[in-house]
Amino acid sequence: MVGSKGGASAPAKQKGSLMSPPDAARPPVPVYYRPEYVLAAHAFDTTRKAAWVAESLADAPIAGLELRAPRPLADAELFEIHTPGYVEAVRTGVPRELAESQGFSWDPSLWDMVCASNGGAVAAALSALEGRAAGSLSSGLHHARRSHGAGSCTFNGLALAAKAALRAGARRVLVLDLDAHCGGGTHELIADDERVWHIDVSVSDYDAYAPSARSSLDLVASANDYLPAVTRRLEAIERDGPPFDLCLYNAGMDPHEGCPEDGLAGITDDTLASREVFVFRWCRRRRLPIAFVLAGGYVGERLDRDHLVRLHRLTLRAAADV
Ligand SMILES: [Zn+2]
Repeated sequence: MVGSKGGASAPAKQKGSLMSPPDAARPPVPVYYRPEYVLAAHAFDTTRKAAWVAESLADAPIAGLELRAPRPLADAELFEIHTPGYVEAVRTGVPRELAESQGFSWDPSLWDMVCASNGGAVAAALSALEGRAAGSLSSGLHHARRSHGAGSCTFNGLALAAKAALRAGARRVLVLDLDAHCGGGTHELIADDERVWHIDVSVSDYDAYAPSARSSLDLVASANDYLPAVTRRLEAIERDGPPFDLCLYNAGMDPHEGCPEDGLAGITDDTLASREVFVFRWCRRRRLPIAFVLAGGYVGERLDRDHLVRLHRLTLRAAADV
């Protein structure tokens, strides 16, 4: 197993005790979260749902998971993929247009939020390298570009996590993006790194891009094609791709038919439950460590908050069970 350093920290005192006792036969799956994940003043799903999911774990724990507080990223760590001018804009709010380029209003606590939540993505990657799986209740990552935000994403925690894993000794990293929308920001940030591969199965063409030799982008238009597309891509990379040391999984729930942001009719709870079990089993069969983040998923007329939390718990459940 490749080495790892930093990122991971002791169980969060305020949360660790809320979880079920782990199975003594195997260590618990670390899931990173801290209250700063939801600190930004601008309130919507992406800036609030980590707390909804954490609260649900307090109310109804999933055995085999352990909530941990990640170390927030320092600005120097963000410079690996983001320009100093953009990082400074998010920290200070100046210029305001750049600080709000992800599409929502800036306030000073946005900085603490995104450093914590991107730190969680990095911590999950480093923890997964030491074991079998880890996750973070982070979202709002995959549209962020080198020099600006986009699509509610401020910093790109997937690219940051991939780079951190490579620094820690991983030879190749697979980014698996099953959010409803395309991960054009991630593509921009990793396209020139031959150690990072990218599978992207989307149901919306938002943030689409031209794939490189090491990436694929499927735009699925029918629910019947959704799971077959995921299966086909993973089987293809298993057959034709190199060995990987880590899978970074952007586990968006916004393909769900009830999701107001481009959900696809016919993609149900059962579809997404099957997807999660399939992804985690695929990684387990290959002995491939997996680090997941929550990604998209939005409350709407046909998807209330409890339902959205249940969908994200499918990922957590699969991580614990598989
Ligand atoms: Zn999305």
